[in-house]
Amino acid sequence: MKSNEKQYDYGRCHVCGGRMEERSVSQTYRAGNRWILVTDVPAGACPECGARVLRSGVAKRVEELLRSRRGRPLRIRAVAWSSQ
Ligand SMILES: [Zn+2]
Repeated sequence: MKSNEKQYDYGRCHVCGGRMEERSVSQTYRAGNRWILVTDVPAGACPECGARVLRSGVAKRVEELLRSRRGRPLRIRAVAWSSQ
């Protein structure tokens, strides 16, 4: 995270009312028929229930990132729980 970036106030959790904290999270996004893992996304995370929110500027950046990566997406393989 850039040090000159002001800490954003995410307010209260919409699920449980806990205080949201800024965290770097990894999220998967659907891009067509593929899933792309985006790491180090600055997001508000609830320490109580784990709910996450992205502020609008970050969500837009992620969208742009996904668009620029369309040519070489990461594949995420799924494992069926029932096959264990
Ligand atoms: Zn919560």
